[in-house]
Amino acid sequence: MDGGYGWILPKGDHLNIGVGGYTHVGPKLRTELQKLVKFYGHAPEALWGLRGHHLPQRHETSAVVSGNVVLIGDAAGLVDPLTGEGIFAAVYSAQIAPAGIARHLNNNTSLGAYQQNLEKDIFSDIRAAKILHDLFYRWPGIFHRIERSKPLLWHAMLTYFCGDATYVDLSHKLGHLWPVMRTASRLMRTISEFKDGAK
Ligand SMILES: Cc1cc2nc3c(=O)[nH]c(=O)nc-3n(C[C@H](O)[C@H](O)[C@H](O)COP(=O)(O)OP(=O)(O)OC[C@H]3O[C@@H](n4cnc5c(N)ncnc54)[C@H](O)[C@@H]3O)c2cc1C
Repeated sequence: MDGGYGWILPKGDHLNIGVGGYTHVGPKLRTELQKLVKFYGHAPEALWGLRGHHLPQRHETSAVVSGNVVLIGDAAGLVDPLTGEGIFAAVYSAQIAPAGIARHLNNNTSLGAYQQNLEKDIFSDIRAAKILHDLFYRWPGIFHRIERSKPLLWHAMLTYFCGDATYVDLSHKLGHLWPVMRTASRLMRTISEFKDGAK
């Protein structure tokens, strides 16, 4: 699907068939879903449990700890904004949350330490990924063309997608270019918020 993709997942007694993509493909998702269902040899009328949602993405000020509640994974909005991947952050946050909870119960320390750990290991990367997301998804065609014509660049990007290095590492590598990219991203977000507010 232009601007998105589809999936079919076995769920024991039923199939989970779906489509997703960039914001602009939203209006045609229903039609694309029906095409995909037919493609797999099923009747569109047999569809049930239809639902849609955005990838859960935290806002800068979103809390992951409140009172005695700790959020992990998608509930905390830890999805990578550039790739849409959330399994790593879900597993990672689930691994560090119990230690924070145990410290809280044993020493009466604040659960805020969990949030601070995420700040160090995940949030800074999400922040960097948002900047890359804003620029990449503004001009995906240009970036795809560059990636195709420069295999070295593609291999360099794989280092980040595979988790061998972080987006924060990339931001350091980009040096003076990074503040320019950050400003461009902020500008895009301000314009988009302004447009949303004007609607
Ligand atoms: C189509 C699609 C493709 C994706 N592809 C990738 C990918 O390739 N790589 C990647 O890294 N990420 C991918 N993601 C994102 C990834 O699936 C999520 O980020 C990840 O699963 C989040 O894990 P989680 O444990 O936080 O939440 P979930 O995996 O959603 O787990 C939450 C669980 O809680 C259960 N639950 C909900 N409410 C209740 C309740 N009241 N009582 C008991 N149980 C409840 C749910 O049934 C669910 O099993 C994809 C997401 C989608 C939708």
